[in-house]
Amino acid sequence: MQTLEALARDARALALGEPVPPSAAEAEVARQLQICNACRYCEGFCAVFPAMTRRLEFPKADVHFLANLCHNCGACLHACQYAPPHEFAVNIPQAMAQVRGQTYQDYAWPPALGALYRRNGLALSVALAGGLALFLALAVALRGSLWSVPGADFYAIFPHNLLVGLFAPVFLFATLALALGVRRFWRDVAPATSGAPLSAPATAEATHAVLRLQYLDGGHGDGCHNEDDAYTLSRRRFHHLTFYGFLLCFAATAVATLSHYLLGLPAPYDLPSVPKLLGAAGGVSLTLGTAGLWRLNLRRHALHGDAAQKPMDRGFIALLFLTATSGLGLWAARGTPAMALLLCLHLGAVMALFATLPYGKFAHGIFRTAALLRHAVEKRQPHPIGLGAD
Ligand code: SF4
Ligand code: SF4
Repeated sequence: MQTLEALARDARALALGEPVPPSAAEAEVARQLQICNACRYCEGFCAVFPAMTRRLEFPKADVHFLANLCHNCGACLHACQYAPPHEFAVNIPQAMAQVRGQTYQDYAWPPALGALYRRNGLALSVALAGGLALFLALAVALRGSLWSVPGADFYAIFPHNLLVGLFAPVFLFATLALALGVRRFWRDVAPATSGAPLSAPATAEATHAVLRLQYLDGGHGDGCHNEDDAYTLSRRRFHHLTFYGFLLCFAATAVATLSHYLLGLPAPYDLPSVPKLLGAAGGVSLTLGTAGLWRLNLRRHALHGDAAQKPMDRGFIALLFLTATSGLGLWAARGTPAMALLLCLHLGAVMALFATLPYGKFAHGIFRTAALLRHAVEKRQPHPIGLGAD
């Protein structure tokens, strides 16, 4: 589904005072959930099925909520007696993934940039090429060479204020775009999920689910599926390494910024300083996590997820891997003639990552967290139907 098509479709319906019709992907999720609601075999797997039992119909906002609650673990596909080649063709992870891709586009801010999700592989490549070209050109312009720059000081190549001036606007824009996009999603799904406000217990439960990646355990603790119907904890573990590696790298940057401005301690830092410890642990964790996710992604069962989103998934994994390994390589190359080149590679990768955060796979973490929060709120409300239990 294309963003402009979605906007035109919605505008036409609104102008006529009609309910906005579901897209083909949304209608397919609704069709499959009607079958699941009669079957309910998968109730114990994840949060989607208990949430489903609170509904008899599946309008757009409910489908958006449930699609982002799905973790694409594959459990309900491998358990399903109505999965292809059965004529019912129930494939919940695939149908949910297609709607998730649509929601990322439809809720993107600014709306015109939602189109970047459709050509995300190309968008990442262009952003990376642009980031590398920018820093290579700047290094040559400022230092006259990419080789044999003396010393181990990054700021001798790129002054601190120049880096802040380049990165801060891009990072702030990415944060704003993600926040405004998820706010639109929240406003749409909140009425469909009881409309009740966030509470401390609901927030604590959703935070716990996010930090543990709870729904990648298959609901029984043995794990989810990847290439076949065998359970595996590999996806959860490599997701954890990636997730916490990213957070540690972010923490390293935050601590380094505070050290620079509050303590007057500029980079580079050495072991055992806090920024270096956080950055080294984060870099190693991110490298291992993304390498594992890449391997798992290449082997993923053909019926899992949306094949059209594979370039986005793999592009994001590859960019995170490049960011982590170039950062570790830069550490190893400090004070050598290769330092300037590696610094350009690392900064170009980080710039491409920041620039594409709101329009790529990173969005799934933000939208899924919002869906988990709404689920934790909704399940605390009286059951509207009374035919199923949470
Ligand atoms: S995915 Fe299949 S087995 Fe599971 S609840 Fe739906 S119809 Fe039943
Ligand atoms: S794929 Fe996994 S997370 Fe998604 S609905 Fe099925 S069981 Fe739940």
